[in-house]
Amino acid sequence: ANLPKDRLRLAVQKSGRLHTDSMDLLKACGIKIKSPKEKLLLHADNFPLDLLFVRDDDIPQLVMDGVCDLGIVGQNVLEESALERGTANAYVSERVLDFGGCRLAIALPEERPYASVKDLAGLRIATSYPQLTKRYLAQQGVSADVVTLSGSVEIAPRLGLADVICDLVSSGSTLEANKLRAVETIFKSTAALIRNARPLNAEKAHALEIILRRLDGVQKAAGTKYIMLHAPKANLAAIKALLPGSENPTVLPLAGDDSKVALHAVCSEDVFWETMDALKKAGASSILVLPIEKMML
Ligand code: ATP
Ligand code: MG
Repeated sequence: ANLPKDRLRLAVQKSGRLHTDSMDLLKACGIKIKSPKEKLLLHADNFPLDLLFVRDDDIPQLVMDGVCDLGIVGQNVLEESALERGTANAYVSERVLDFGGCRLAIALPEERPYASVKDLAGLRIATSYPQLTKRYLAQQGVSADVVTLSGSVEIAPRLGLADVICDLVSSGSTLEANKLRAVETIFKSTAALIRNARPLNAEKAHALEIILRRLDGVQKAAGTKYIMLHAPKANLAAIKALLPGSENPTVLPLAGDDSKVALHAVCSEDVFWETMDALKKAGASSILVLPIEKMML
């Protein structure tokens, strides 16, 4: 493919469930991209990165064929595409991302009895993920008919096209609306950042290294909070012990109050109301919990 030698090309979903989170992630990594408008290819202003906006289904292929160096795509689409391609993987998964969470599940009409996966034998299963579905059935030693549909899988049972379905679920409300219930999860997925398997040249490898370092900083910070509070010196140990996943908090004197100190800490986990209640009970006051935007350790 005709790729620029000094700029990374990243395939991103043009619109849909992954688009906004993908763009937000790039922005959080300090990569400036003018609003997408209707362009197919966009250049980042302040980073050697170009974005190609495409349907998510095309992303694995674009990366594996080397038309793009990188892609952000659901692992479900990626795995399906890799299975279909059949050859040894032509991609490397650089990072699993914390958005686009869903699962591929087998669901049946509410009234259909179900005890185990053996009950699927001989049924017609409608899905947009024939490869993943067939692999699962083979692993379970069940033989069933897989019917491939590109969309609206959830209405297939009502139309008489299939007995059961294998489709993506996140909240389950689509299933409920179609009087279906999920009985087996066959694949759990989030988005991933993938790269073509061939080594990048030095310039691109360096640019990717920077992106990955920033991305790790953003993802690490997402689950982290900064907490500040006042603690009676007498209860300091008890209060420290309550802080979720914090190392060596900073302890500072409080001007004008000798009995208390100020305590600042980075908590590697979210701080819930329960924790704050417990801190308060242990004598803490003026408790502030702040989000952390970026982190580099
Ligand atoms: P495109 O037009 O790009 O082909 P699409 O309609 O195939 O879009 P979307 O519905 O935007 O795809 O979903 C993209 C990805 O988002 C899915 O492949 C999956 O990884 C993830 N996802 C997260 N939650 C859900 C969900 N509830 N249903 C479907 N996909 C979900
Ligand atoms: Mg798609």
